[in-house]
Amino acid sequence: MQILTLRTLHFFQHGRAFSSMTTSIPSVTAKPRLRGVVFDMDGTLTVPVIDFPAMYRTVLGEKEYLKIKSENPTGIDILHHIETWSPDKQKRAYEIIADFEKQGLDRLQIMPGASELCGFLDSRNIRRGLITRNVKGAVDLFHVRFGMIFSPALSREFRPYKPDPAPLLHICTTWGVQPDEVMMIGDSLKDDVACGKRAGAFTCLLDETGRYDSPEYESTEFKPDYKVTSLVEACSLLEKNFDLAT
Ligand SMILES: [Mg+2]
Repeated sequence: MQILTLRTLHFFQHGRAFSSMTTSIPSVTAKPRLRGVVFDMDGTLTVPVIDFPAMYRTVLGEKEYLKIKSENPTGIDILHHIETWSPDKQKRAYEIIADFEKQGLDRLQIMPGASELCGFLDSRNIRRGLITRNVKGAVDLFHVRFGMIFSPALSREFRPYKPDPAPLLHICTTWGVQPDEVMMIGDSLKDDVACGKRAGAFTCLLDETGRYDSPEYESTEFKPDYKVTSLVEACSLLEKNFDLAT
């Protein structure tokens, strides 16, 4: 049987059609099963409206911002930086961040393709979850505006947050699925892709502008399995690469 299989594969590699033998071929190219998709919120399900550089400047001060930026060319983890500050300084920082997030909420828009993708997942009985570093209030408002619920939806209150894999592993446990049956979709290489890869999930980077094509991202530790420039592309990507059987 083993020999037949190898021979069959050999014939295939040489492009010969042995249709009578194809029925006994084990499914060597079986697509992985997909049971759930976990989304990032800001910049993935919603159009990015938070001016992150301006937020970092205000929280850190211009001098500290430039210093930290030069040390972290692929992105600043602002929550991580302020965690070691004194309670007073930290409180002020959180207030500034909340202000910027509120401005973002006031202008909240749903990302093109997001509703269609979620409808597609629902039609295939594929679970939808959400992980954000934003606060629970923002997730609640998003749910109201979007009109579909993501469950679980983990916000900043769930520790440790992305890029730690803990929130994604928590969702997998809640769903009763393995991480390799789940895809994480997000617009951040350092948070979403890192979280997904650390958890052992498939990852898809949403890169609308092609900014991750620039050289400074070439040597980053975690690379996405897939990349799209719009959520509109995601349905066909999932259909092509995964077993979506209900
Ligand atoms: Mg994001």
